[in-house]
Amino acid sequence: MLDRDETRSATRAGAGGFELHGFCRSLYPIARSITGPGVRETLAHVARHVPLEIHEVASGTPVLDWHVPEEWSIRAATIRSLSGEVLVDFAAHSLHVMGYSVPVSGVFSREALAAHVHTLPERPGIIPYRTGYYARDWGFCMAHETWERMRDAEYRVEIDSTLAPGSLTYGEAFFPGEEEGEVLVSAHVCHPSLANDNLSGIAVATALGIAAREAGARRRLGLRLLFVPATIGTIAWLARNEARLGAIRAGLVLTCLGDTGPFHYKRSRQGTALVDRAVAHVLGGGETPHALLPFTPDGYDERQYCSPGFDLPVGCLMRGVHGRFPEYHTSEDNCDFITQAALERSLAVAQAALDVIDGDVTWVRTDGRGEPQLGRRGLYRAISGQTTSAAASQMDLMWFLNLADGAHSLLDMAERAGVPFARLQAAARLAEAAGLVARVTVSDEFIGDTPLGAKDFPHA
Ligand code: ZN
Repeated sequence: MLDRDETRSATRAGAGGFELHGFCRSLYPIARSITGPGVRETLAHVARHVPLEIHEVASGTPVLDWHVPEEWSIRAATIRSLSGEVLVDFAAHSLHVMGYSVPVSGVFSREALAAHVHTLPERPGIIPYRTGYYARDWGFCMAHETWERMRDAEYRVEIDSTLAPGSLTYGEAFFPGEEEGEVLVSAHVCHPSLANDNLSGIAVATALGIAAREAGARRRLGLRLLFVPATIGTIAWLARNEARLGAIRAGLVLTCLGDTGPFHYKRSRQGTALVDRAVAHVLGGGETPHALLPFTPDGYDERQYCSPGFDLPVGCLMRGVHGRFPEYHTSEDNCDFITQAALERSLAVAQAALDVIDGDVTWVRTDGRGEPQLGRRGLYRAISGQTTSAAASQMDLMWFLNLADGAHSLLDMAERAGVPFARLQAAARLAEAAGLVARVTVSDEFIGDTPLGAKDFPHA
């Protein structure tokens, strides 16, 4: 349930000179991969808005069951006719070269070149996205109609790339809260010129960071933003942070948030974690077209965060679902495919979910029993005197006072009463001002049946 207050707070994040679609456009041409200068350049853009710590993990470093690969740099790549005409040029589109292509220079027959050419024959006008991170191969991706027009016997092929020991780069920002515990927001930064699948998540995560910076110390929980190359970057981060993963109360992987389709939220492996309930609550209420998806061990980095031994409470917020929209992993996933309005709405949903998670505290009645007399405590007057759009009704206050028994968090109450979270927060403020309730301290609080801070990581 996203009320107008939450939409406004998201718009505020966009007001500080940060425009989501413009940010995507500025990142779009950069040739990203899982390592290399494209990732660093992308992180440098993010760091202009969010205080980002850049980490470099050396090639060959063992991380869980994997090793950090060699670093890949790509400078240029062309296919020319023997007369010198440029037919395919990496400079024109970063999708033209298969990610992690080894360097090549030579003349190849059309037949030999064909083994290295990737097209989509059934969609002849668009360029596919292909990678070969661990293949030690090279390849060109192009529109099928381009390949069909290339009928010479031989072509001159150049790929000016380097595959050599270096490092894997990721960026991390942390905004401390008043209490222990933190919320993780993760976006992948390894796709080249693809807008929805990559840039939309980076842009929304950056905007969340701007909002967190502007909110200062008003946050209860810490907020950790991660900008990581998918899979190997997340695995590296998990391996390097194992000892303190118990602090993560909730997490969201953000991706594919710029298209205009309905929202999709993929639940964490736990299924009913706080983040799962918070996102379901924000998307619920009937005004936001959406679907809730069960956890599956594919998709984006939620599958790493939710892998065995970690099983972190991390879900994935999307609009389009990977592999299920026709633009996915093609040149059609460009900046015309994503819209400013869709990105803003996605930011509002993500911010509202984070606000619910951050605000989900537990209250207990100080007098302990019975229904308090609202009039004697000036609460009817207080209800009518509220000025925010997320004002508590008398019924909201009655729900709150009934369930403020130390065993129901605000989200429990919002779910049970069927009202937006922010209205129960408003009810809590009124009741607190009237001296009727007290916050349950952190050490007394429970999430599900796991005491906070006591989550056990046997491998840590
Ligand atoms: Zn992808």
